[in-house]
Amino acid sequence: MEIKNALEKVAKNAIVNKVVDYLDKNPEQNVTKIFSAVKKFNKKDKIALEQIKIVEDLYNNDKSKHQYIQDILQNTDNKCLKKFFTNFFANAVWYAGPKKDKYLKKEDTKIPFVMLISPSMRCSLHCKGCYASSYSKKDDIPKEEVDRIIREARDLGIYYIIVLGGEPFFNDYLLDLYEKYNDVMFTPFTSGLLITEEIADRIKKCGNVIPMLSIEGFEKDTDSRRGTGTYKKVLKAMDMLHERGILFGVSSAVTKTNINTVLSDEFTDMLIEKGSKMSWYFLFMPVNGDPVDFDMMLTAEQRAYLGERSREIRDKKPYFTIDFFNDAPYVGGCIAGKNYFHVNSKEDVEPCIFSHFSTVNLKGKHLIDAFRDPFFKKLRSIQPYNKNMLRPCMMIDNTNVIIDVCKEVGAKPDDAGAEKMLNDKEFHDKLTKSAEEFKPYADKAWKEVFNEKGNDDFAKG
Ligand code: SF4
Repeated sequence: MEIKNALEKVAKNAIVNKVVDYLDKNPEQNVTKIFSAVKKFNKKDKIALEQIKIVEDLYNNDKSKHQYIQDILQNTDNKCLKKFFTNFFANAVWYAGPKKDKYLKKEDTKIPFVMLISPSMRCSLHCKGCYASSYSKKDDIPKEEVDRIIREARDLGIYYIIVLGGEPFFNDYLLDLYEKYNDVMFTPFTSGLLITEEIADRIKKCGNVIPMLSIEGFEKDTDSRRGTGTYKKVLKAMDMLHERGILFGVSSAVTKTNINTVLSDEFTDMLIEKGSKMSWYFLFMPVNGDPVDFDMMLTAEQRAYLGERSREIRDKKPYFTIDFFNDAPYVGGCIAGKNYFHVNSKEDVEPCIFSHFSTVNLKGKHLIDAFRDPFFKKLRSIQPYNKNMLRPCMMIDNTNVIIDVCKEVGAKPDDAGAEKMLNDKEFHDKLTKSAEEFKPYADKAWKEVFNEKGNDDFAKG
């Protein structure tokens, strides 16, 4: 068995090296060979093969996707391209899979695919509704601890790490860590304001960093939420990244007021022109416990429209979009504590970036303790919480779930907003009312767009 595994590893390494070689020399002319090598690598994995086939068909038959893939291959810095392939696909998806499966089979412990970590909550901006504002800025995780947590994550098979905050570029040492863990893929979500020519050079030198820049629409929307002058600085950061061939995308918190702008052709085309390769749309979430937050939340109709329009942009333009909520059926509903988790700046381990509840603090504890804890296991056992995966959330769609689970496993709220979610009846009733309002829209799209079918394999975890 050992010999068979070793031989298989040698064969897989040879395929990965071959693809790296194709990416090194004229990648745009080697696409067919790359697809065939990738299929060979995944020949025993039926689901992966199906997914690769879908992408290959899109490349061959869909003009905008052909253009999108060619643009990435032709205009991305060579090292960044190779790192994206080796770290994200080869390491995070292919090699780490069997490593993580061992824990699942042996002890029913699920090692998530991606770790989110907020090393510091310091930020030069004070954006309206930002969840970061509810943490103390004194509570940075020491550098050695961040290093240890990343090492433990990587050793467990987590090769994709999203760095949040606060502002990830506030801490210089993070660039040292990106360099140190050069087999891991990092995505810092940043305001972009601290990206200078020197920082952009270092990101390019690392190769394993794909920044996501926050932008809330054109100048008026971005500056009114993030502060005067922010929009121009974000655009400047995009130019610095684009000039160097660094892969990057943007993230937008979608509110009642900016929804039409961020989903417009004009705005999306501007981002494509600037070199962005993808947009993440996040529903504005009322997690700070502030009544004003409800006014910024999308209406039920707007939330449905966000899904519709995100799919349309993804289908028609040479661009990739992720709508964190309306794309939930593709990943089997809620992925909290199962495929992803968040370590906040106090080292509390939370099931997701919006759910500020925890049972494990990492000070003096190994990361695996959080995955072995009943909290994450309980969540996984009841996911999806709803047959309709367009209503995936334990806080804003299935509003009793978070209360019941926290009670059962003894999870404590990490901040005042989370406390409110558990104990403030008025707040809870408001959330439930908004969930009820969204239900008919979700049911309609679930039937008409998804044919009442989501990704059950993923849902099982
Ligand atoms: S709890 Fe809600 S916000 Fe968090 S991952 Fe699940 S669906 Fe998303």
